[in-house]
Amino acid sequence: MAGFADLGLRDELLKALTGLGYEEPTPIQREAIPPMLAGRDLLGQAATGTGKTAAFALPLLQRMPPPGGDNPSALVLVPTRELAVQVSEAIHRYGRDLGTRVLPIYGGQPIGRQLRALEQGVDVVVATPGRALDHLGRGTLRLHDLRVVVLDEADEMLDMGFAEDIEAILQETPEDRQTVLFSATMPPRIDGLARSHLTDPVRIQIGREPTPAGEAPLVRQVAYVVTRAHKPAALGRVLDVEAPGAAIVFCRTRDEVDQLTETLNGRGYRAEALHGGMGQEQRDRVMARLRNGTADLLVATDVAARGLDVEHLTHVVNYDVPSAPESYVHRIGRVGRAGREGVAITLAEPREHRMLKTIERITKQRIVIEKVPTVADLRARRLELTRAALQESLLADKGLERFRVVVDTLAEEFDLVEIALAAVKLAHESGGVGDGDQEEIPEVTIRPPRERDGERPGRRVSVRDADGRGRGRDGGRRTPPGGMTRLFVGAGRSAGIRPQDLVGAITGESSLTGRDVGAIEITDRFSLVEIPEQSVDEVIDTLRRTTLKGRRPVVRRERSRP
Ligand code: AMP
Repeated sequence: MAGFADLGLRDELLKALTGLGYEEPTPIQREAIPPMLAGRDLLGQAATGTGKTAAFALPLLQRMPPPGGDNPSALVLVPTRELAVQVSEAIHRYGRDLGTRVLPIYGGQPIGRQLRALEQGVDVVVATPGRALDHLGRGTLRLHDLRVVVLDEADEMLDMGFAEDIEAILQETPEDRQTVLFSATMPPRIDGLARSHLTDPVRIQIGREPTPAGEAPLVRQVAYVVTRAHKPAALGRVLDVEAPGAAIVFCRTRDEVDQLTETLNGRGYRAEALHGGMGQEQRDRVMARLRNGTADLLVATDVAARGLDVEHLTHVVNYDVPSAPESYVHRIGRVGRAGREGVAITLAEPREHRMLKTIERITKQRIVIEKVPTVADLRARRLELTRAALQESLLADKGLERFRVVVDTLAEEFDLVEIALAAVKLAHESGGVGDGDQEEIPEVTIRPPRERDGERPGRRVSVRDADGRGRGRDGGRRTPPGGMTRLFVGAGRSAGIRPQDLVGAITGESSLTGRDVGAIEITDRFSLVEIPEQSVDEVIDTLRRTTLKGRRPVVRRERSRP
C-alpha cells in the first residue's frame, strides 16, 4: 500500500502528517495529490469524511512560493463560516513547518480584525464568497499573485446562491492559476462551473465502483448521527446498550486511537489501543488480552487492524465514517463470519450523512439510522441487566442459604419486599452500573433525502418594491410548505440584504445547510425566509447573535396574517 512519501510530498509535510497520526493516504488523497502536484486542474467528487481537505491542502502547500510574499498565493472558497475555520486550521497544521500564514475570512466576524491580518501578509486565504467579495471591493484582498484557487463544497456554495460572487471573484484571479473544484454531488450546474473555469481537469470520483455482489457481509448495520463533542458519550451509551462480547472500534488517526482508549478506560471499559506506531511485541500482547478476555474493546486504525484475525468479534464500530466505501466494507467484513450474527455501528457527524448514503448505494445494503439511546433507555437497560443477573443467581440457587440469617434478622423489622428492594439496589450499584451517565445527548436532525441526490429545484427568491408589488419569479405570498416556517428578519433591500446574505448567516453557525433553507422574499424594509419548523429556535438564536451587513435586525417568527 502506497504511503504519503510515495505520493511525492516533501519532508516538512510528511513530518506534519506523522505528527498528526495519519498512517496512510485515503483514496481521494492517493488519487488527487500526484496530479495536483504536477500542476493539473482537478474536478473531484468527494463528500466530507473522505479526507478531501488534505487532498487539496497538501499539494497546495507544496506548490506555493516560499511564505512571506505581499499577496496571498492561494485562495480556498468555502460555503460556511464553520468550514472556513475548519479548513484554515487544517492548512495551518499541515503547513506549520513551512511557516505558511493562513487566514480564514467570513461574514459575522468584525472586519477590522481581518483587515489587520490581511495587511500583515497572508499566504493562504480561506474565505466565504460574500466576505471575499467585500474585501475585494475594499481593495484589501489582492488576488493577482494567486497560484491556486480551490472551490470546496462547490455544490453547497451554488445552493446558497453564491454563483455570481464566485464568478466575480474568479474574474480577479490570474488566468494561469491552478483551479481545483471539490463537490459532493455533480449536478449540471457544477459541470458548467467546471467547464468555464477549469482547464482540462483530472476527474476523480470516490465511491464509483460498486462492490461485487457477495463481498459485503450480511450484518446488522446501524448508524447514529451525533456532533463531534458528543461522540465519546454517545459511544459509551451505545456500547452499554449493545453490550458487545468483543468489539473493534476504528479511528482515523493514532492520536484519536490513544485518546479514545484513554476515555473508554476512564469510563470503565477494558479497552486496548492498536496502531501502526506500535512494535510487534506490543501488538501481540494487546491481541492476547483481547483473545483471553482481559480486554473487550480494541481501538485501532485501519492499518493496524489489517490482517488481524479475531475469531469472536461481535461488533465493529466506526468511530468516524470511513474515508471510502471500500474501507467500510473491509471493516465490517470482520464480523458476521461463519454464520454468526454481527453488528456494524457507525457514528457519523451531521455533515458526514451524505457519505453514509454513498456507502449504502455502493454496498447495496441499508444502514439504519437510529436514535442514540437516552438516559432513560440506558437506565432501563441497566435494570434489565441487573434483573437478568439476579434471575441467574436464583436459578443457579448456589450459596444463597448462608444469607438467610441476614434476611431473617431484617424481616423482624422490615417488610420482605423492602429488604429485597434494598438488596437489588446494592447489587445494581456494585455491578459498576451506577446511574452516573446523566448527560443528555442532543438529537441531531438530518435533512430528508431528496428525490435525486444533488439536484435541487431552484430556490424561490422574490424581491418586492416598497408597496409590496412583486418583481420576482414568485407570485403572491403563499403558505409555507409542510414542515416549514417563515421567519421575519427586520432588514431588507434598502439595507443591501441579498438572498445569499441570509442563507450565509443562517447556515454559518446553525446545523442547517443551504439546502434546508426554503423560499426567500426580500422587500425594501424586511425579509422573509422559510426554514424547517424543527430548527426555528436554533436559527432565531443564531441570527440574533450574528450581524447582517453590519446590523443586528429583529428576527422572529412571521406573525400570521388575518
Ligand atoms: P475531510 O473529509 O477533509 O473533512 O477529513 C475528514 C477527517 O479525516 C479530518 O478529521 C481529517 O483530519 C482526517 N484525515 C484526513 N486524511 C486522513 C488520513 N490520511 N489519515 C487519517 N485521518 C485523516
